[in-house]
Amino acid sequence: MATFKAVRIDKADKGTTAALAQFDDADLMDGDVTVAVEWSTVNYKDGLAVTGKAPVVRRFPMIPGIDFAGSVTAATRPQWQAGDKVILNGWGRGESHLGAYAEKARVKGDWLVRLPEGLSGREAMAIGTAGYTAMLSVLALEHHGLTPKDGPVVVTGAAGGVGSVAIALLSKLGFEVIASTGRRSEEGYLKSLGATAIIDRAELSGAAKPLAKERWAGGLDSVGSTTLANLLSMTRYGGAVAACGLAGGMDLPSSVAPFILRGVCLLGIDSVMCPLPRREQAWRRLAADLDRQKLSEMTQEIELSQVFEAAPRILEGQVRGRLVVKIV
Ligand code: NDP
Repeated sequence: MATFKAVRIDKADKGTTAALAQFDDADLMDGDVTVAVEWSTVNYKDGLAVTGKAPVVRRFPMIPGIDFAGSVTAATRPQWQAGDKVILNGWGRGESHLGAYAEKARVKGDWLVRLPEGLSGREAMAIGTAGYTAMLSVLALEHHGLTPKDGPVVVTGAAGGVGSVAIALLSKLGFEVIASTGRRSEEGYLKSLGATAIIDRAELSGAAKPLAKERWAGGLDSVGSTTLANLLSMTRYGGAVAACGLAGGMDLPSSVAPFILRGVCLLGIDSVMCPLPRREQAWRRLAADLDRQKLSEMTQEIELSQVFEAAPRILEGQVRGRLVVKIV
């Protein structure tokens, strides 16, 4: 029986444990495509899974990791052939289905996206769920009708993964981008990605008024809680805020005032169960619109054995931009 290396999470008396381990092929779950995993990444949710800080893992033992890029080695589904380069984001991998921090994966062919032309597997994982969620958020703002001539867009959690990719995308599309960060030391980094103005996240973290001075036409929020409430209360008439994250909290202490008095729209973004056509659209747009030089500047590469140290750091908001994990 062939074996492969993976990160293994087990339930313990208190919480969970995580360590490198050997699995064998018999441990793989049902699926019609087997993939040699080449690259993965560390997202906020991976941090929660590896540290056990929140109950995102719903099966034990579990292999964490919600994203991978790799090559198909075997498939019993006609649209996939051995050698195809593929990406997988979400669909419960690393939560209820064995995840990406492994040399091998078996998954449903319906979950896979073909690696877009011109994008490497490493670049796809430098983007990862964080970057693909940033793209889904930009698509939602565009669908709302937001254009650069409407005014600036604010991005919260700016120096994090979603925030960094969002700034690069929005600035490439011609938007004036206001970056909200708790790390003023990252001002130079955020400007290099395309932010035109930086605000301290403390400006947005207090209790929100029902309506405040209109400051932006749109927003992309990965923080939630009072930050999202403030974003809404400061959005111009007819604008929209795409909400995708909860780095600052899961609550939303807001009022209906921005919706009923300014016609502001709150756009919910989910990457995990997002239908395949939308995913493919997002990945095509990432391949076309994301500046590769900026992607490279926001990315650090780590080994699989380093995810244990990276996991608490991402939860503490200490990771700048994106981490890509070399699996083999
Ligand atoms: P990161 O940790 O890379 O970025 C989060 C950023 O938020 C931090 O870098 C920091 O930015 C800011 N932040 C952290 N803690 C706080 C706080 N207490 N108050 C205010 N700001 C804070 O995570 P990701 O970018 O990978 O993910 C961001 C969020 O989006 C997470 O909540 C994640 O779960 C969610 N997410 C949701 C998805 C979906 O499908 N809806 C998919 C992907 C992510 P700075 O230092 O610049 O202030």
